[in-house]
Amino acid sequence: MRTIVVGNVPFGAGSPVVIAGPCAVENAEQTLELARLAKASGADALRGGAFKPRTSPHDFQGLGLEGLKILRAAGDETGLPVVTEVIDVRLVETVARYADMLQVGSRSMQNYPLLVEVGRAGKPVLLKRGMSASLCEWLGSAEYIAKEGNLEIVLCERGIRTGASGEFSRFTLDLNVIPAVHAETFLPVIVDPSHSTGVASMVEHASCSAIEYGCDGLIIEISSGRADAPRPMCDADQAIDPAVLGRIIRFIRDRQEGTRPREWFSASAAYS
Ligand code: PEP
Ligand code: MN
Repeated sequence: MRTIVVGNVPFGAGSPVVIAGPCAVENAEQTLELARLAKASGADALRGGAFKPRTSPHDFQGLGLEGLKILRAAGDETGLPVVTEVIDVRLVETVARYADMLQVGSRSMQNYPLLVEVGRAGKPVLLKRGMSASLCEWLGSAEYIAKEGNLEIVLCERGIRTGASGEFSRFTLDLNVIPAVHAETFLPVIVDPSHSTGVASMVEHASCSAIEYGCDGLIIEISSGRADAPRPMCDADQAIDPAVLGRIIRFIRDRQEGTRPREWFSASAAYS
């Protein structure tokens, strides 16, 4: 597998990477508090949306450039590399100036001009799977980025639409795609247990299951857990407390150190 280095964090080097942070950068205080909590819990990188792709145009769209600056400052303060989404081909250069890794979101996976521009930006890319995308379509999108000479791509399974989606969880987490990605490509694949479930109480189970299934990391939305903290403006129902994030990271580290048995199969052996 190819190792993709973001800041000083290697994806695909054998040790699962954890990216954590708010859904959206809302203000400097919230972002710095969550960055510190992520760092203290053992996370490797910080996430946070400055440009948000929202279903309704009337919902909070993110702080834009101001959000990028806040995220960058929080990353610098805590020593965590930052991952943020770019939704617009006109903004790729700007976002690349502040981010260590460019996220292409589910809704943009087949925005081919955006993929081309992201491929030219000289930054590692987190390519989320379209919510209705087949593996073939997803890898085709990765190919658009690679064709521009950028092979620094980490794939992210974030849940797909199925007949059950929306009934008890937001999307359906397709864990089976992890070994398929490993068999078909040399790229690391991480899992987003937050958007795939949409339910905070499911995030720890989804995370640990994805790790057992052989993924190369997780991207998780968190909130402070303080009773007096304002409710997050986006995706509040799926944000987990730092204590839960800490448990997930301990699960990963214990497993890495062999203090938790590896009962499961090798990921690529599960797909043929
Ligand atoms: C996100 O990670 O902020 C996000 C919007 O995710 P997705 O594109 O997977 O919906
Ligand atoms: Mn979100």
